[in-house]
Amino acid sequence: MNNIIKELAKKNLEKVVKIRRELHEYPELAFKEFKTAALIKRELDLLNISYKSEIAGTGIVALIEGKEKGKTVLLRADMDALPIEEETESLFKSKNKGVMHACCHDGHVAGLLGAAMILNEIKDKIKGNIKLVFQPAEEGPGGAKPMIDEGILNNPKVDVAFGCHLWPGYSAGKILIKDGPLMAHP
Ligand SMILES: [Zn+2]
Repeated sequence: MNNIIKELAKKNLEKVVKIRRELHEYPELAFKEFKTAALIKRELDLLNISYKSEIAGTGIVALIEGKEKGKTVLLRADMDALPIEEETESLFKSKNKGVMHACCHDGHVAGLLGAAMILNEIKDKIKGNIKLVFQPAEEGPGGAKPMIDEGILNNPKVDVAFGCHLWPGYSAGKILIKDGPLMAHP
């Protein structure tokens, strides 16, 4: 299974890089992630993954159902950018003046869509469900609590949740893990 996942990651890498750059060009502030949500829906539609949108405003929850019944694992990515002017000469520099994906959330959304591409392709080998949560407004007001209040932890009930944050201080390919909350507003 490890090798299959590695092969699928390689196969989808270029697509995920392209998505991340597209997201980087159009950063949006908390609860205004409309283009971001449209991009996520476009990619989920391409994968034929069912989802619910407009949860807590711009949030999206998608579900990949495995072949056999089992537990439900939630994977979460935050969607919003920061009110910072991008001062780089990057080819995919922010086109929204005064707004920048300076906290890697473009990478988080692209990464979760990449995980969706892989998991969707091996769903016949999965026992249980994968719930994909695209959460608005991590910076500032907090989009997780209103999404939970709208019931995203039910139907099916979530057994375990994972979030991640990119961190340029560590080398690529390295993953550091911690139990409990880390680096996020509720
Ligand atoms: Zn962040």
